[in-house]
Amino acid sequence: MFKKILIANRGEIACRVIKSARQMGIATVAVYSDADKQALHVQMADEAVHVGSAAAAESYLVAEKIIEAAKQTGAEAIHPGYGFLSENADFAKALEKAGIAFIGPNVKAIEVMGDKIESKKFANEAKVNTVPGYMGEIKDTNEAIKIANEIGYPVMIKASAGGGGKGMRIANSVDEVEEGFNASKSEAMSSFGDDRIFIEKFIVEPRHIEIQVLADKHGNVIYLAERECSIQRRNQKVLEEAPSPFLDEKTRKAMGEQSVALAKAVDYESAGTVEFIVDKDRNFYFLEMNTRLQVEHPVTELITGVDLVEQMIKVAAGEKLEYAQSDIKINGWAIESRIYAEDPFRNFLPSTGRLVRYQPPKEETRDGLTIRNDTGVYEGGEISIYYDPMIAKLITHAPTREAAIDHMADALDQFYIDGIQHNIPFLSAIMQHPRWVSGNLSTSFIADEYPDGFEPRTPEGEELKILTCVAAAIDFLGNKRRRHITDQMQGNKVVFAEQRSVQISGTNHELHVEQVDPQKDDLKIHFKSSDENKKGEGEVLNVSTDWWFGQPLWNGMINDKKVSVQVRPVMNGFELSYKGLTSETYVYTSREAELEQLMPVKVAPDTSKLLLCPMPGLVVDIMVKEGEEVKVGQSLCIVEAMKMENILKAERATTVTKINAEAGDSLAVDAVIMEFE
Ligand code: ADP
Ligand code: ADP
Ligand code: MG
Repeated sequence: MFKKILIANRGEIACRVIKSARQMGIATVAVYSDADKQALHVQMADEAVHVGSAAAAESYLVAEKIIEAAKQTGAEAIHPGYGFLSENADFAKALEKAGIAFIGPNVKAIEVMGDKIESKKFANEAKVNTVPGYMGEIKDTNEAIKIANEIGYPVMIKASAGGGGKGMRIANSVDEVEEGFNASKSEAMSSFGDDRIFIEKFIVEPRHIEIQVLADKHGNVIYLAERECSIQRRNQKVLEEAPSPFLDEKTRKAMGEQSVALAKAVDYESAGTVEFIVDKDRNFYFLEMNTRLQVEHPVTELITGVDLVEQMIKVAAGEKLEYAQSDIKINGWAIESRIYAEDPFRNFLPSTGRLVRYQPPKEETRDGLTIRNDTGVYEGGEISIYYDPMIAKLITHAPTREAAIDHMADALDQFYIDGIQHNIPFLSAIMQHPRWVSGNLSTSFIADEYPDGFEPRTPEGEELKILTCVAAAIDFLGNKRRRHITDQMQGNKVVFAEQRSVQISGTNHELHVEQVDPQKDDLKIHFKSSDENKKGEGEVLNVSTDWWFGQPLWNGMINDKKVSVQVRPVMNGFELSYKGLTSETYVYTSREAELEQLMPVKVAPDTSKLLLCPMPGLVVDIMVKEGEEVKVGQSLCIVEAMKMENILKAERATTVTKINAEAGDSLAVDAVIMEFE
């Protein structure tokens, strides 16, 4: 076995690999860029080597520097993680030459599978079902139209070198083929330096289901069931689960066996993933094979009990697989939420900055329920503009899908992040979504269910009641604290009872709050009926908690239900976050409530005449001039952050009066880029 390995990656996946290596007694070497001097993976590794400046192209992607770092530290093998050099055949070749083991497949497998046209040909020969379409490079628009007409609409236009959801277009008509072909071609050229395009049938409302395979250098190949990754935004995965709620035993076996056949056809070794799309009738079609560890591998680990990173390292060291196909059993259900630094309420724009607060839920297994959090960040750390916006992967495991979803909803409630925007409210909302809960999924789920983007929800029904109780309980403790300070609690015999008016998301609730026992903070909260004739009637809820001021998370029981609510102080009140909704809440005495009605409402400043920078980033291009008239939807400027170019467009027809930025400027969020008439 290796004594020391280098991890050619950063973030959560570098940390993940270090964990398994450490358990195996293998020393680890991290590499880092200027932006990552303080990063978690650097702190976790036994040694760390600086490999260049912040831009990945000058550090993590420079094969020579990585290989030099391995030689310098005596690392015998390199784990590439995912992204970066993980599917780069030249890198694998260079390692072979340098006598360093690559913890991944052989060069041939990477080459064949890295190319969507080549891999489809291979899959066809290995008798794997492929998406109907044209299996070669398409030269020009005329040929593209001819082929699309033959396949029948809708079609998918794809870059052969594509990845990460880039270089793909759906076309429903001749016009859209013409447009999509050219768009895909130029995007493929700029993203991958390779503009070969092919066309296949677009499978309508498919599900994305993939098979994990594991192979050794001795010809043994097994499959470790499937993962379903149908919850995607712009072809990028957001939520994954294992197993799939859609597969039956027969389809699982057929997909598994085809995946193994494909792996054998390319002499595969190490861990790999065969991606399929599956139509309503459970017909499945090969999409591509990812020749690396997949982002969502933890869900497979939790249902099979196999440590995939450990197996990859053992295979690279020449060991035989320690599992036979018959050893692989599905145990329970696992779900993964990708936690991204992005603002779900502002069209998922990337968000950067310092993690002022970062408190994930506790990783543990208790009563058959597991929480795992794969992360590469820490409180006080910085989310920079240079890399991927993923900050953590929260994974839950339970005996059933229902329990795993509930556990995920709770775990998300407990995940406390401040300082940057994040998608936890969006993930929480999906956990509550009846269609997700029912398992009736397709890759268009997010587009179908959130056609106008994600809007903040307002609390209703049960959720409203719970938040009202939490607000009243916090207020009660505040009053108790004040009584303590003024020493009104002597004797401790008094049972406090108070009338309160809770204002939450613009609604008012009259409550009677009563302490159950003078020794405890347990409360009975009586919701009074708003109907004059039913005075005195209304629901009574029992609340108990050991929360105290300063704790970001309010944990307690409300009528025998465990509740976690995040608390952030605001002027005269607090902001409560629960199940993906956030409400400002104020608790008043009856008199305060009366007076509050008389307060003037603060009007937000008018920013409709300004173009504000939606996130911190770099101005790539200003596309208009001062004095220019612009139309609705006209592109005004391009701002780049986290590898994404964001085009800012005019929301109304107007005239540009002033421009405050130029290409190359680094802007903060809400910086005024230009002003309008
Ligand atoms: P998964 O199927 O594991 O979710 P993705 O397709 O989302 O994989 O990609 C995983 C990571 O690899 C992402 O960080 C993505 O940006 C990166 N990636 C994938 N393909 C490429 C590529 N061809 N070039 C650069 N980065 C890529
Ligand atoms: P990438 O290399 O970018 O991951 P994939 O070929 O794996 O590209 O496709 C990514 C996603 O795009 C899939 O998960 C699926 O949602 C969608 N997709 C790709 N091809 C098709 C198709 N022919 N029909 C329908 N959806 C598709
Ligand atoms: Mg893919």
